Amino acid sequence: MPTVYLNGQILPLEEARIPVMDRGFLFGDGVYEVIPVYSRRPFRLREHLARLQSSLDGIRLGNPHTPEEWEDLIGQIVARAESEDQGVYLQVTRGAGPRDHAFPKVVRPTVFILPLILTPPAPEWVERGVAVITAPDNRWLRCDIKATALLPNVLLRQLSVDAGCTETLLLRDGFLAEGSASNVFVVRDGLLLAPPKSNLMLPGVTYDVVLELARAQGIDHALRPISEAELRSAAEVWITSSTKEVLAVTTLDGQPVADGRPGPLFRRMHAAYQDYKHTVMRGKVRNE
Ligand code: PMP
Repeated sequence: MPTVYLNGQILPLEEARIPVMDRGFLFGDGVYEVIPVYSRRPFRLREHLARLQSSLDGIRLGNPHTPEEWEDLIGQIVARAESEDQGVYLQVTRGAGPRDHAFPKVVRPTVFILPLILTPPAPEWVERGVAVITAPDNRWLRCDIKATALLPNVLLRQLSVDAGCTETLLLRDGFLAEGSASNVFVVRDGLLLAPPKSNLMLPGVTYDVVLELARAQGIDHALRPISEAELRSAAEVWITSSTKEVLAVTTLDGQPVADGRPGPLFRRMHAAYQDYKHTVMRGKVRNE
């Protein structure tokens, strides 16, 4: 039974209770983060906490904790978790109140931290790549906020499950936004491309790591809008997220991406990502 943190208490998950009037439950009025933990070191903690702050700003909810307090609370859950490699899920909601869309007069946020089992991508996914489908992006216009209100993402992700695929890539007005739970990169003419950060996508922590590694590796890259036609005729397509790391997409809507095998730039980036991760785990690079 995992040990969790809830509003000032460390307790077994089965004993954690929230009031049914919590606005997270009633309205999905909250934000969250998922942080991978390797050898009990939270990966890119500073970036995750910075994104949490901007999500909280986006929903006009004060941050209940300083970064130092978050680090301490997360550390307490990580120390009690069963395995060395895991994830941490944290969620802040606008707390309980009358069922009224308007904010309560007095807000007491609910803070919840849960250890997650982190399963690294299966070796055959890395070797063979994954299949994805596309769908029109029907989410709201603040996809940069990591909101717990995930119903559109849930429905979009289920489309790919129903199709036996790993992810749903989202197209808005003829351009690639991101995946239902990942960011997307494309390779064309040897150039690594990704949509620039905007309100139409979540600013992924892994997206930033991949761009940093591209810079370090001297891989030519550019951030610019990617049209649907450019996605469909790409030499390589990748998806990235904290849990998927970097994966090659080899089938898109039932069609092979180029020759249907993970491409050379993917192999380079995947190796660089694994190297970087292991270096961070050994503590040789400042983990920020
Ligand atoms: N976009 C969406 C919609 C996501 O849910 C995620 C996963 N949190 C990502 C992108 C990737 O973000 P990260 O690399 O920080 O996990």
